[in-house]
Amino acid sequence: MHTVIIGSGIAGWTIARELRKLQTDAELHPTTLICSDSGDFYSKPMLSNALASGKTPATLVMTPAAKIAEQTRTRLLNCTQVVSIDRAQRIVRTDKGDVPYDQLVLGLGADPIRLPLAGNAAEKVLSVNDLSDYTHFRNALPAGAEVTILGAGLIGCEFANDLSAAGHAVRVYDIAQWPLGRLLPEAAGQYSLKKLTDAGIQFEWGNSIAQVDQTDSGYRLTDSQGNTHAASLVLSAIGLRPRTGLAQAAGLECGRGIRVDGLGRTSDPAIYALGDCAEYGPVGPLPYIQPVMNAGRAIAATLAGKETPIKLPSMPVLVKTPACPTVIAPPAAGASGQWLCEAVEDGMRALFKSPDGTLLGMALLGAATAQRQELAGQLPSLMG
Ligand SMILES: Cc1cc2nc3c(=O)[nH]c(=O)nc-3n(C[C@H](O)[C@H](O)[C@H](O)COP(=O)(O)OP(=O)(O)OC[C@H]3O[C@@H](n4cnc5c(N)ncnc54)[C@H](O)[C@@H]3O)c2cc1C
Repeated sequence: MHTVIIGSGIAGWTIARELRKLQTDAELHPTTLICSDSGDFYSKPMLSNALASGKTPATLVMTPAAKIAEQTRTRLLNCTQVVSIDRAQRIVRTDKGDVPYDQLVLGLGADPIRLPLAGNAAEKVLSVNDLSDYTHFRNALPAGAEVTILGAGLIGCEFANDLSAAGHAVRVYDIAQWPLGRLLPEAAGQYSLKKLTDAGIQFEWGNSIAQVDQTDSGYRLTDSQGNTHAASLVLSAIGLRPRTGLAQAAGLECGRGIRVDGLGRTSDPAIYALGDCAEYGPVGPLPYIQPVMNAGRAIAATLAGKETPIKLPSMPVLVKTPACPTVIAPPAAGASGQWLCEAVEDGMRALFKSPDGTLLGMALLGAATAQRQELAGQLPSLMG
């Protein structure tokens, strides 16, 4: 059985690692991993808090590609772009030749969403979604920069806090009215806003950037209300879109992501998907580390011959904003209930409860994050 994995993020390498634990004979059970990047293993969440902690792109690499390939006895085809999947013949077609498979795993990740911007420097707006983007961002960041960030979601707020702590002036635009607007109820959002503002971050609410033009010293930005200001770097963090192009072209069922069942199988039983490119049944996409690891372990066991349903318990996400430590487990989309917010000493606790009082989601800020374990145990499982 030849297993081919596409993608060298946490999704791809978790499959390679877990599968090799179960199938120790690499000659009998060959595995090939194909990726368009270098294949180096790094912690993607660290990209948004590496500046203040003094990490560089080089020190973010945890295991170089050649080493992890050797450890997992995986044939690595890095810097290789997959152009199509021929399901009838079970062949992955790449820009460097064809790779046949018996079982295929897609760990393709997601693309940053780009705002349609006017101006002669619209293309200079950066996004950071992988190590090579991060290298580019670091090289483009002057000392004491004036940075404008588009988006006050999880990644935008983390970068804002990190840049500010590293001595840069930061201004964040969002069409919402408070940080993490899609994840926090208003009272919790206002608490977070106060802490982030106290840390020196400036916010522009209900507003966005419409135009970016080059100047001698950087950029002139024009917002949606016609006001202008200068910036030395513009970072877009308005969200990610699962990479479904290859799967769609191959005729696999896709919604917002590549649809998978409780085993992580796509609509083709020889092909599995996980991570940022996947949509887990009714739960939808779960673009976080913990779900990838859980799905990876279960899918590896199924690939090795023991059907293993993916179990996704509630998985609170830690927002890496030291100015306002935050833990969030949002309620499922469309869940009925309401947020109940309560100020605690040096913090805020927001619980989303159903009409019968069942805890369905939570947001813990400041000192309330200490209750994470206790409350997480009361949340319903997401899957399995
Ligand atoms: C700045 C930042 C901070 C984050 N912080 C957190 C956090 O604190 N906690 C948390 O839980 N999650 C966090 N996340 C989310 C988490 O990092 C991701 O959910 C996870 O890393 C996704 O891994 P993945 O393997 O699915 O995708 P990726 O790591 O994006 O890997 C995709 C792989 O697919 C390859 N690929 C794609 N298309 C092709 C092709 N056609 N041919 C060949 N190869 C291809 C790419 O080269 C790459 O190797 C953060 C994300 C970002 C960007």
